[in-house]
Amino acid sequence: MEKTTLSKFSKEELTDFIIKNNEKKFRAEQIFSWIWAKNASSFDQMTDVKKEFREFLNQNCQILDCKIKLRQISKDGTIKYLIEFSDGLCAETVLMRFDNRSNLSMCVSCQVGCKMGCKFCATGKNGFKRNLEAHEIISQILLAQIDTGLKITNVVFMGQGEPLDNFENIKKAIYLINKNLQISIRRMTLSTSGIIPKIYELSQNELIPTLAISLHAPNHKIREQIMPIEKKYNIEELKKALKEFNTKTKDRITIEYILIGGLNDTKECAIELINYLKDIKCNINLIPYNPTDDNTGFKKPNKKDMMKFKYLLEASGKKVTIRLERGADIDAACGQLAGKTN
Ligand code: SF4
Repeated sequence: MEKTTLSKFSKEELTDFIIKNNEKKFRAEQIFSWIWAKNASSFDQMTDVKKEFREFLNQNCQILDCKIKLRQISKDGTIKYLIEFSDGLCAETVLMRFDNRSNLSMCVSCQVGCKMGCKFCATGKNGFKRNLEAHEIISQILLAQIDTGLKITNVVFMGQGEPLDNFENIKKAIYLINKNLQISIRRMTLSTSGIIPKIYELSQNELIPTLAISLHAPNHKIREQIMPIEKKYNIEELKKALKEFNTKTKDRITIEYILIGGLNDTKECAIELINYLKDIKCNINLIPYNPTDDNTGFKKPNKKDMMKFKYLLEASGKKVTIRLERGADIDAACGQLAGKTN
């Protein structure tokens, strides 16, 4: 008989399940707290739950239906996990700690593989296998908390896959992360390559995370070369959606821009980008391209060009950061997640 996976449940659903199995409501409270606040990995740890009911749980239920298959720790403390799901497929998830802050950020995957095929991204090259269910997304956080004993404070939907291509599961995962793990929506960021209709839909959602857009080019011509999505949802239509998102949410958007040496890091590109972003309330995150071990032909930007690019954008009044490279030695940096095991 297939076991019931309890990490799928909201508090209300868990309570219904426990009551249906002839236990009192307060048991649900206890079990909920063990799973979501105390990082329990087995029912035997739930010492305040009576023994007979623990036996019932052991026989009929499981907390999670996935496990850590591999753990790699970078020199800078970043941890990359390979998570194996119940059907044997795997996805990677990354835990990052920034030295100067107490924040612990988890970069979660939402699909096994990805359909978008961005040319600079290792995930895109492996094709698409399937969407992850909401509980498989949130389980990545639970597993990291169980493994480290630490509380994750921030979640970024920026791992493998395109979140807005798995929108129903992402909405449910956001809800569960907020309600079950008590992580504020202000501490969640969703990054998309720009599925325009879903950006409009996201702006109507009850819980709206910070929106990050993988823009990576200042114009249609360059974007089309590196991001196939540009053929369907072009950069000018995207601008309208971003302005509307600003108006609806009053929030600043994060613009992600991978700097690829000689392709999109020139002075002309900076000027075009400034022009494109002038009516959008946003911060800009520059990401130096990380060469992966395949033959994209893309180059790392040189430091001088990168600083010049940053300076030009700052002079236009935007807040610009250069993303710290985390976990590059374990292929955990941006664009390097590939799930090689699949
Ligand atoms: S960058 Fe994101 S959207 Fe593009 S292929 Fe990689 S995972 Fe998919």
